[in-house]
Amino acid sequence: AKEKGRNRYQFYSSTITSKAFLLIKLENWLHQAIKKNEFTLHYQPQVNILTGEITGVEALLRWYHSEMGQVPPTQLITLAEQTDLIIPVSQWVLRTACLQHVAWLKAGLKDFPITVNLSPRQFQQPNLVSMIKKTLEETGLDPHYLEIEITETSIIHDEKFAAQAFHELRSLGVSISLDDFGTGYSSLSYLQKFPFHTLKIDQTFVQALQNLPQDTAILSAMIMLGRSFNLRVVAEGVETLQQLEILEKLNCKEVQGFLFSRPLKTEDATQLLLQHCIR
Ligand code: C2E
Ligand code: CA
Ligand code: CA
Ligand code: CA
Repeated sequence: AKEKGRNRYQFYSSTITSKAFLLIKLENWLHQAIKKNEFTLHYQPQVNILTGEITGVEALLRWYHSEMGQVPPTQLITLAEQTDLIIPVSQWVLRTACLQHVAWLKAGLKDFPITVNLSPRQFQQPNLVSMIKKTLEETGLDPHYLEIEITETSIIHDEKFAAQAFHELRSLGVSISLDDFGTGYSSLSYLQKFPFHTLKIDQTFVQALQNLPQDTAILSAMIMLGRSFNLRVVAEGVETLQQLEILEKLNCKEVQGFLFSRPLKTEDATQLLLQHCIR
């Protein structure tokens, strides 16, 4: 029995070591990525269903690593959160998105916001608001053009802190969007407690649409709820015309999804925006 125990211990210990080792390796790569500028942002438009006009753009992080290839953003963010590199990575994202939007506005782009995702860890940084303020000042982006997107996980951790951050961001002129609405546990109470500007209905609800009454019932309730709080409601993950038609019937005004456009690299996004959205 003793022998067995020792073996088991060795087994765990070597797993932990290799995990730690992998983490160190990844951390190194991530450091390099920041230095070598291996990140890019892709941009996905949000569209008004009735008019076809673009009403916003979401910035989405991309990392291409020479050995690993394209690293999925969710994995990249998880990794960055584990290694504290989330702070420089997020700063890079915010700064790049702001600079890009300034360039688009200079080129004559219509008035609509750029949306940047904040990770839960980043949202808990004590200097979050001052970092955002500084970035806005340095890039010259008018705060009214910035919308930050958070999930409720960001709020759960410390509601008091969140309330304070919300208040400060709103007084700067920055809007806040609740991402992945419907997937968490506290969304309903958060709608009442926090001054959101936009509600993003999670793509699982859109993709579950099979034309059964109960599928539309949930979506319909979420859309009505958002509208009754006077929020901009955006349905995510719209891939088919059928989904679009149902959303339109349910009085959803804005959508984001592959049906209109995949997230586009900068040059393609610029081309799309400058073709369709000049003042
Ligand atoms: P999210 O914020 O919910 O972003 C929407 C995701 O849905 C994006 O995946 C987008 O490419 C994808 N998507 C858009 N339309 C469709 C569609 O019609 N069908 C399907 N199947 N998918 C669609 P992506 O870019 O892989 O990002 C995944 C997640 O990674 C994001 O989910 C967000 O949570 C996180 N993320 C991405 N960029 C950043 C970033 O800069 N900072 C932080 N903190 N998180 C980020
Ligand atoms: Ca998002
Ligand atoms: Ca989402
Ligand atoms: Ca998500």
